[in-house]
Amino acid sequence: MAEMTPMMRQYFEVKHDHPDCILFFRLGDFYEMFADDARTAARELDLVLTTRDKDKNKPDEEKIPMCGIPFHACDGYIARLVQRGYKVAICEQMEDPATAKGLVKRDVTRIITPGTVTESAMLDERKNNYFACVYGDGNAYALAFCDISTGAFSATAVRDASAAASELARFQPAELLLGGEAQKNPVLCDTAENRIGCALDFGADIDFDEARCKELTQVQFCRSLDALGIADEPLVAIACGALLARLREMQKNDLSHVRELDFYRTEKYMLLNMTTRRNLELTETMRSKERRGTLLWVLDKTKTPMGSRLMRGFLEKPLMQPSQITKRYDAVDELCKKTVLREELTLALKDVPDLERATARIVTGSCNCRDMLALAAGAAQLPRIRELLSQTDAALLQTVRDRLDDLQDLQALIDSAIREDAPLTLREGGIIKPGYDAEVDRLNEIQNGGAGLMVEMEMREKERTGIKNLRIRYNRVFGYSIEVSNGQLDLVPPDYIRKQTLVNGERFITQELKDLESTILTAKDRLAALEYQLFSDIRARLSEAAPRILQTAHAVAYIDVLCSFAAVAVKNRYCRPEIGVGNELTIKDGRHPVVEQMLKDSLFVPNDVSIGTPDCRALIITGPNMAGKSTYMRQIALIVLMAQIGSFVPASSAQIGIVDQLFTRVGASDDLASGQSTFMVEMTEVAEILRTATPRSLIVLDEIGRGTSTFDGMAIARAVLEHCADPKKLGAKTLFATHYHELATMAEGLDGMKNCNIAVKKRQDEMVFLRKIIPGSAAASYGVEVAKLAGLPDSVVNYARRLLGELEKNAPQKEQTVCEDDPQVSLDDLRSEDIRRELEAITPEALTPIEAMNVLFRLKQML
Ligand code: ATP
Repeated sequence: MAEMTPMMRQYFEVKHDHPDCILFFRLGDFYEMFADDARTAARELDLVLTTRDKDKNKPDEEKIPMCGIPFHACDGYIARLVQRGYKVAICEQMEDPATAKGLVKRDVTRIITPGTVTESAMLDERKNNYFACVYGDGNAYALAFCDISTGAFSATAVRDASAAASELARFQPAELLLGGEAQKNPVLCDTAENRIGCALDFGADIDFDEARCKELTQVQFCRSLDALGIADEPLVAIACGALLARLREMQKNDLSHVRELDFYRTEKYMLLNMTTRRNLELTETMRSKERRGTLLWVLDKTKTPMGSRLMRGFLEKPLMQPSQITKRYDAVDELCKKTVLREELTLALKDVPDLERATARIVTGSCNCRDMLALAAGAAQLPRIRELLSQTDAALLQTVRDRLDDLQDLQALIDSAIREDAPLTLREGGIIKPGYDAEVDRLNEIQNGGAGLMVEMEMREKERTGIKNLRIRYNRVFGYSIEVSNGQLDLVPPDYIRKQTLVNGERFITQELKDLESTILTAKDRLAALEYQLFSDIRARLSEAAPRILQTAHAVAYIDVLCSFAAVAVKNRYCRPEIGVGNELTIKDGRHPVVEQMLKDSLFVPNDVSIGTPDCRALIITGPNMAGKSTYMRQIALIVLMAQIGSFVPASSAQIGIVDQLFTRVGASDDLASGQSTFMVEMTEVAEILRTATPRSLIVLDEIGRGTSTFDGMAIARAVLEHCADPKKLGAKTLFATHYHELATMAEGLDGMKNCNIAVKKRQDEMVFLRKIIPGSAAASYGVEVAKLAGLPDSVVNYARRLLGELEKNAPQKEQTVCEDDPQVSLDDLRSEDIRRELEAITPEALTPIEAMNVLFRLKQML
């Protein structure tokens, strides 16, 4: 350090305090990075590595590497680093270098991590960006979630680590602070890191100090723990306090937009574990992780970013209170019926920008003029939205209207002060409108009209002195001066100070001229500083109004979601469900909300269901592959979920008894991330279902027990099914699809179980899927026919058919089923012993179409 420049010493001091961050060190118009940070940034951001060290005698490898980016373009670079898992610390100049004495003071003003981003360029506007904290003590866990970009904050307590993992799955945080037992729980850590993909932060013990955390929570929300509803929840207070402390540390300023703590009990919402969310493809598809093809894609026709985020929030938290749900139905119902009103609301909503994120940036001090103009543009729509809501009757719409402040004072302030063409930079002027501040107007006039002021003075001086050819001129060396020709020098007044003698005259200055000169030359800088000051004052006033703006933003989001529900219900012909506390689930003409949108060439065939009655708690569904078993079961689950978020549903009628937990165990999906075998994953999931489900739950089991040998699988499937259906054990509503026909046969005689199957028709060799659910179990599996549909070559299909026939006849030896004299399927034709073995290994009736295609692919490769 000894031979370093003072600035480099300052750099390394700051870096010492932030060893885990890439330090963006402000030097004039650039953020510079040095040493290892420079190497990393150069590699990750494709920047050129240089050095500040000008010492020619030093070998290159001893010089400190450096790279930099222009400060105004930093967002994109920061976004790339944060996306790749780095933390970025922004170190700003804390004083004006022009006026600073000695080394400019610098300090870290923000640390940006995946969970603390507020810049719109780095965020998906349709998604909340949560920083979460999970704290565990023994078996009990508490969680807190904050989206710093909107100010949303919620917390809950759960019974164990698996429930904590489900809550994490609900919020999908970008970053997670773990404390206490949570740090040691491998399942929780694995879920967070590998399945949710969030950055992990293992806090130190001191971060979770109870007294400190309680204090921080009360101070932040300006209420006692009692008033916040968490007096008896010490773990929740710890999670909240630790999270708040971490956020403050990152933001380095107050979080005054984080004002409301939403402490909720998990029982308030339907519980969906991570597997169920994934299987039901609520917000992203299983394979390609896209939005298209999900329930959110069908339901989300919102017009504002806040609305879109709330829609996702609704999907993540299906309600459990019939009265609350009915309120949403009433609102949707009215909006469905009042088409014109809904369309006008939608039109007004279209022009409301992201009020929440603009407000968050205003409060945290990272806003620019665009954020303010967006706020004003949003506010301009509010009176219209209020007026339209006044024409409605539904209680929820009235509540929303009452919570909507039209923010006209803020709009007036911004409209009067901020120029529409204001630049993104804040310190170079061009921000404040004429007429807002007299001094700004004067400085603007001086800056723009410097020449005019000089002409004015010249005329005045001519008149005062009587010197006809007096001129005020500008010279780069001497600045402004008054020129008088030799013939007129006797008229020069005593206050003129001689400056320079010319060939044919003299140059003078006066005090007034000097003053005017300095006014003109410094006007630009003073104007920029004053405009920044005024901008900061306006920002402070808007900050004070943050609670009003956020409440309004939330009201706008609400009306946006309700309008979206209504628009989708009308367009897709949904019906209003009847929701109740009973256990029965009856749907007439139910459809799969997503599949029906994806079908292009055919119509979706509606189907009924009635389950949860004493004579039918479990429904066993059989039918050929591709018949539509999965679709049928998922549509029932999705209809229940839609009904409990307040949406209308794709059916002609639906009576839905509140479901407390929804479980799906679907197919034999590999879970390579967890390092467990397919069967192990399946059984772990089934175990969790049996452990946590209640009689109010809905369980969807799609072909369980397939990952092991037939007999084991069938035995397990039967035992699980009976456990689920038996009211003395679990007695939950269970939908069970299977290819084990024996299971269906068994159900015939059992209490509370019913069989149904999906009808197919065989026309000669062709199979026609009728997609209709009919009572009774399926007669056959038709796996070979489906394999044919999937495009398996005729030779393979024919052979498979014959094998099947033989198997069904219980052929004593498999080898004998291969007919070498069969002209169609001779092994000579296939020319490979391997292929013969491969074919022998196939159990066609147990193949799904995809598996059948995989076999085909392998066979082709062998050939
Ligand atoms: P497998 O046993 O092979 O998993 P499955 O019986 O579960 O098959 P699904 O995956 O549910 O079959 O359905 C296959 C396809 O059939 C769906 O992707 C969809 O395109 C179509 N389908 C299913 N149900 C219907 C319906 N009711 N109306 C129209 N098309 C449907």
